[in-house]
Amino acid sequence: MSDHQSSSASEARRVHVVGAGPVGLLMTALLQQEPGYDIRLYEKRSEYTRDRMVRLAPYLVADSIDAYRSDPLDGDNVEAVFQPWELQEALAFRQQMSPDLRALLVDLTGGFCPLNDIELALSDLIGQGGPSPVERITATLDVDAIQAMLEPSDILIDCTGCKSLLRDHLVPEWEPAYGQERNTNSIRMEHAVVATFLFNKRYECNEYCKYYKNLDNSQYKFVPSVERTLNDEGASHVTGIIRISEREYDAMPATCEDAWLREHMPAVARSMERFIEKVEAETGGALDGDPQVIRIVLDLYRAYNATNRKWLRGRLPEHPFARSSVFLVGDSAIGSPYFQSISLGFECAMFLAGLLTHTEYSADEVLEHYERLVYQQWLRVYMRTKQIKHNKDLFETLDDTFGLLEKLHIF
Ligand SMILES: Cc1cc2nc3c(=O)[nH]c(=O)nc-3n(C[C@H](O)[C@H](O)[C@H](O)COP(=O)(O)OP(=O)(O)OC[C@H]3O[C@@H](n4cnc5c(N)ncnc54)[C@H](O)[C@@H]3O)c2cc1C
Repeated sequence: MSDHQSSSASEARRVHVVGAGPVGLLMTALLQQEPGYDIRLYEKRSEYTRDRMVRLAPYLVADSIDAYRSDPLDGDNVEAVFQPWELQEALAFRQQMSPDLRALLVDLTGGFCPLNDIELALSDLIGQGGPSPVERITATLDVDAIQAMLEPSDILIDCTGCKSLLRDHLVPEWEPAYGQERNTNSIRMEHAVVATFLFNKRYECNEYCKYYKNLDNSQYKFVPSVERTLNDEGASHVTGIIRISEREYDAMPATCEDAWLREHMPAVARSMERFIEKVEAETGGALDGDPQVIRIVLDLYRAYNATNRKWLRGRLPEHPFARSSVFLVGDSAIGSPYFQSISLGFECAMFLAGLLTHTEYSADEVLEHYERLVYQQWLRVYMRTKQIKHNKDLFETLDDTFGLLEKLHIF
């Protein structure tokens, strides 16, 4: 497929966005603001109920390379992975964004907020309309349905999340990579209990604070991420990760009350309680509501191929994936723990929207360019995640000199 990707002025290009989570919604909102598309957005859920608190990275609204590289754990990685012109290009793409969408992103990057606030705000924006029409369709698609609806030159964007519908279908069976893992490369970071709570006072936290509040937690450390909440300057949102073993993970329900944790995993519960008690003593504040507790496996993964490029020079030129452009965006392409994933998905969505509007690129060039971007974002998030995990491992063994030395392999 080497056709130039522009269609005639009268003929809108059909775009199917499958999955209307945060990334599918942003992808749709970005394309909607450009003329020349006929967009269908498919979603299996009928309402947005996920109220877990999430954080978006400030680099999403950076308007200069320096601002883009301001995260201390990320700045050098970005410089190592991207050439300056690539960063300029990505920044230029996002400057095409409509003022309303940009204002919304600036708002959302201001602190922790519920996931469904992001989904509802983006849905509202899409509902206001734009140069390209969007039809929202409630349906659970499968691979056969997708292949049946794809017409030549259609664009299909899979935003179906970590259990991506298409990720493992992007490698045809004659490819050497068609094996057990097919198209997914996954690295397990840890098993964890994630506890989140709202604290009714503004509370700032740094590494010293994390250390002193964990001094009596010998086995399980409560490692928090603390941020102001988006809509309430006077409160703090705390999400803490407590590393547990695989066996403990298996013994836990997916979500539980803190009472369950106190009864069945008292040492884990105590680590969280000690942390909270110290914050209360320090600030004079208190918990607002009960902590929410979930168990989670923290994996870092990516699709080896984030597009259908392997189908294009294959043996089945009439196959739907050989005649259209297929992209994975969001958790369907890359997944990472430690509060980074949505931002990474937004980053890829903004880049892809920019690429698609640049009609001087052929369809093949768009695929190659997007693959390159996803690989670079993977390198970036891989390095950042490994560094976070390493720092976390060291933090958990700070008072155990020999335990610490075991983790400090220098050369
Ligand atoms: C406890 C917890 C805390 C987190 N905190 C953060 C955080 O602070 N910051 C951060 O960046 N990330 C965080 N994450 C990760 C974040 O929630 C995900 O990265 C994000 O939701 C991925 O967005 P997405 O749109 O790619 O996929 P999803 O949110 O998974 O959306 C996929 C959508 O596709 C739909 N869908 C799936 N299959 C089909 C189908 N066959 N047909 C039609 N529709 C389909 C689904 O219903 C869903 O709406 C957290 C995750 C957890 C579990």
